Amino acid sequence: MNVLVLNCGSSSLKFQLINAENEELIAKGLCERIGIEGSQLVYSPTGGEKVTTVVPMPDHTAAVKLVLDSLCDKEVGVVKSLEEINAVGHRIVHGGEKFAASTILTDEVIKGIEECNDLAPLHNPANLIGINACKELMPGVPMVGVFDTAFHQTMPKEAYLYGIPYEYYSKYKVRRYGFHGTSHSYVSQQAARLLGKSYEDSKIIVCHLGNGASVSAVKNGKCVDTSMGLTPLEGLIMGTRSGDLDPAIIEFIAKKENKTIEQIMNMLNKESGVLGISGGLSSDFRDLEEAHAKGDDAGTRTLEAFCYRVAKYIGSYMVALNGVDGICFTAGVGENSGLVRSMICEKLAFTGITLDKEANGKRGEDIIISSNAEGPKVMVIPTNEELMIARDTYALVK
Ligand code: AMP
Repeated sequence: MNVLVLNCGSSSLKFQLINAENEELIAKGLCERIGIEGSQLVYSPTGGEKVTTVVPMPDHTAAVKLVLDSLCDKEVGVVKSLEEINAVGHRIVHGGEKFAASTILTDEVIKGIEECNDLAPLHNPANLIGINACKELMPGVPMVGVFDTAFHQTMPKEAYLYGIPYEYYSKYKVRRYGFHGTSHSYVSQQAARLLGKSYEDSKIIVCHLGNGASVSAVKNGKCVDTSMGLTPLEGLIMGTRSGDLDPAIIEFIAKKENKTIEQIMNMLNKESGVLGISGGLSSDFRDLEEAHAKGDDAGTRTLEAFCYRVAKYIGSYMVALNGVDGICFTAGVGENSGLVRSMICEKLAFTGITLDKEANGKRGEDIIISSNAEGPKVMVIPTNEELMIARDTYALVK
């Protein structure tokens, strides 16, 4: 069964066509600048040449149509007709408390996703546009929604309640939800396998360190805590998001700088994080590492603050799990930056963790990078959210 995995953003669309039986990637690509001048489709069939086409895409329906045309194209296509695309798996950002697992997209489920729009006003509407575009272009093809928040729905109340009046939870469902759930689920499962442990009897901490970053504590296959909150703004210091801060800072800066709440929120989402701490140097860790290597304090202080926050979360999640078997690094920074991993693990020396320098220098494979015989193991596990979406879709429609 071939599953088309779609990840629709407000002006972009990422896709992969995956053979769900043997889990092979058939083709992948990206539509950028949808609804904006200069839109383009990048299409890569496995084993073939990458094709970039600059073509107008006024809306997501046009983008999905171009993707389907490419997949079925006589020259560069990978399937003969749309009939060979048997199901679509959609990444949905926010499922609120309604969706604790992936689910077939019926009209009722789609309505439920619409009801979560309030919780993710930038993301869910874009996801819904992608769903509607597929409904129009591929009528009758089963579709599945895979939610970023679902994996975290097993968190206990003590982990998801905020210290604010309970009525805001009762009335508006203000609570911790957590994101990157598909990644945390995939990586924690792979970690148990790599450790030779049963997933149902394991204590794993997953550090998803990319442009967005979050940590989760997974006990016996179930998430018990995670660092992102009602929105992805909470927790670690990220590329451009602040992560945890004293809420009083919002009023303080608003008064000093004569700014509105919207302006402050924009600053916390887009101008903060490592970009902000580095004084605007970069949100990309490659630039920060280069600056650090040259002795530039902007690079050094930023990496130190980022790694300290990650280590602090790992420490607190050891409490949440009452111990830990494995700590995993994944996503852009987690998979690629040996320096960041070693700076974080240095702060965990009290647990007995020591890194194997050679293993920490490797890339692109599931690998244990710690050398200590006793105590927690440290791993790098490349994430694969698309494969996880294809797996869930296959399981529900086969
Ligand atoms: P993601 O959001 O998972 O795609 O991660 C993107 C981020 O990964 C980039 O913004 C970089 O900061 C980081 N990154 C990618 N490659 C490297 C690398 N080789 N070394 C350090 N950081 C990297």
